[in-house]
Amino acid sequence: MANEFLKLMESDREYILFDGDTLKLYKIPKEKVSEVRDFMEKPRERHFAPIEIPDRLNRLTLCVTSVCNLACKYCYEGEQNCPEHKTPFISFETIQKTIDFVLSQYKEGINCVQFFGGEPLLNVKAIRYTIGYITEACQRLSIEPPAYTIVTNGTLMNDEIHELFNEHFGRVTFSLDGRKEINDANRVFAGGKKGSVYDTVAASLKKYEKDRKYYVDVQMTVTESQLAQEDPEITDFLHIKDLGVGNVQISPLINTKDYQVAERDQYTSRIIRYFQKCYDHEIRNINKSNYYKLLSLVQVLKEHTPSDHYCGAGFRDISVDTAGNIFPCFMFNENPAFIMGNVEGDPEEFLKNREIYLNNTISRNEKCAKCWAHGMCSSGHAGCIGSYYLENGTINQPIDYNCQLTKSTFEDALCKIAKFA
Ligand code: SF4
Ligand code: SF4
Repeated sequence: MANEFLKLMESDREYILFDGDTLKLYKIPKEKVSEVRDFMEKPRERHFAPIEIPDRLNRLTLCVTSVCNLACKYCYEGEQNCPEHKTPFISFETIQKTIDFVLSQYKEGINCVQFFGGEPLLNVKAIRYTIGYITEACQRLSIEPPAYTIVTNGTLMNDEIHELFNEHFGRVTFSLDGRKEINDANRVFAGGKKGSVYDTVAASLKKYEKDRKYYVDVQMTVTESQLAQEDPEITDFLHIKDLGVGNVQISPLINTKDYQVAERDQYTSRIIRYFQKCYDHEIRNINKSNYYKLLSLVQVLKEHTPSDHYCGAGFRDISVDTAGNIFPCFMFNENPAFIMGNVEGDPEEFLKNREIYLNNTISRNEKCAKCWAHGMCSSGHAGCIGSYYLENGTINQPIDYNCQLTKSTFEDALCKIAKFA
């Protein structure tokens, strides 16, 4: 069996070898290429970093409401996200119990608390209460407080919220898909309410740009209409950047039970090109706000021993819903089959369920264990176990089209990094 975690790439008439086992890059002189090809035929042992349970939780996603004021057509939360939900808003008591529970299981605290919904700005008082409660708890326990982030549709911004962000938030993520006609084709107000979501969000991005102390990221889903041409222009990506946004996180569409991409192969080949163009643009225009994204791959390469996990859902990251139910990530919220426990329940239930996610390793999957990109999978779309579940109904079956996208993006990025080596 060939050594499948070595990847030989050709870029601008240079040969670059990437060793997926040691995460090292080599420039290969042309005359050595056939020797390298022979070497690639020889099997070799594979290594993974040992599985460690972290003392500090990387991310707690706290869903402060399950209600949303938008009804986006591709939303994976679908009809679960409605005011008839049993617990539409989190209570102060559940917030306290959540923080107490998490700090009892992760003795070194939490790196980042991410407020989530529904639309989290429908429950600002819960956000304020959480920040106050955590600040006190961290002082009492002498642990470093977390950073705060939020994922919001941005339609409810006002002066008071802007001040709250300025005071406590390092980074705020808005959702917007691009120009008005592209965004408003899918992102619409709930309950038939009239008005343009794009106009509302773009106006507040501009209004608060000047005295903003927090970074704004925009989460942009690349819809099929943005990929109408074979070699698509990144017009919407550039349009959002012009709204004063430092970093645009581009996401591919995944299939859900309510939304299927019509021409998946065509979508995949076009979005690969879209990603390449966006990265090229970012590398040419590196700034304080986007550099951390670009450097994330370099950081992974510095580790030298690949992680054996896809993403950190279920052990490094967890999500708690408005009723105190614990999920591996917000992508599983509301699905009873994925409840890991409750913040008022027996911690042993959570710990037992956490093992499922700790043991959901790359090396246990025959295809992934041989993949040259396995060491970087956790930092790409291919490693998102939430998308596996939405597409395949399981957490251990990666999605081929996202693997293609991730591998192609890595290949392109590795060739660019090799030029600086
Ligand atoms: S999920 Fe895809 S990219 Fe990641 S290791 Fe598995 S096959 Fe490779
Ligand atoms: S990669 Fe996907 S499943 Fe994993 S933590 Fe992120 S959103 Fe959740």
